[in-house]
Amino acid sequence: MFSFVGKPNSGKGTLIRSLIEHYKRYKIDVISARDLIYSVDYTTPIGREIEKALAKGEFIPQEFFVELIQNELRKNKADVVYLDGVTRTIQSAIPHGKQGEFPIDSLVSLNASDDLCMARANNRIICNDCHDTYHKGQIVDSKAGRLIMNVGSDCLKCDGTLEQRTDDALIGRRLEIYNREIAPVFDFYKNEGINILDLDVTPTKTNGELKDEAVNHFAKEYSL
Ligand SMILES: [Zn+2]
Repeated sequence: MFSFVGKPNSGKGTLIRSLIEHYKRYKIDVISARDLIYSVDYTTPIGREIEKALAKGEFIPQEFFVELIQNELRKNKADVVYLDGVTRTIQSAIPHGKQGEFPIDSLVSLNASDDLCMARANNRIICNDCHDTYHKGQIVDSKAGRLIMNVGSDCLKCDGTLEQRTDDALIGRRLEIYNREIAPVFDFYKNEGINILDLDVTPTKTNGELKDEAVNHFAKEYSL
């Protein structure tokens, strides 16, 4: 089991998708914190608490979060599991330490600067209907000719309207919380002797290059 950590917009989702494509021969399941959080019924008391936290760009109650992830892991039968954004705080890291119920093999850390994550968040626009993503100023070919996409443009796929994603608008606050909470997580895993793969994310490095670095690590450490 591998846990992927990184600031919002550091590119975890993209890296995970290309690794799954690369390792087609294995059954890999992704447990995505974001997907699980959005699957909670928001009409329940805990759902309302989660909604409030998300609206402020804050972490949801950690006890509930850890339980949500553990329930999912208990059901899981895959050869390899990728945890996407699951490790955020010391509470969420402990179950995946050496003595925990679900120990990880490696922590894969995407290291990006705050400026880079902020720029990506500010640049991204998303369809309010089908959730396809674009970036501001993107030039696309449509039936009507060449268009420059921006907030308020029509989605090419479904005619929905492009807007900034709510959590992208909260990027400053989300980065502040991430940076504060993740530091003890690294200390904890280092003390436990858990393998940490540091991948440096830069504006010029491609996702393919990041994927190759991860693949080399998995080959060297686990003969995957
Ligand atoms: Zn759309």
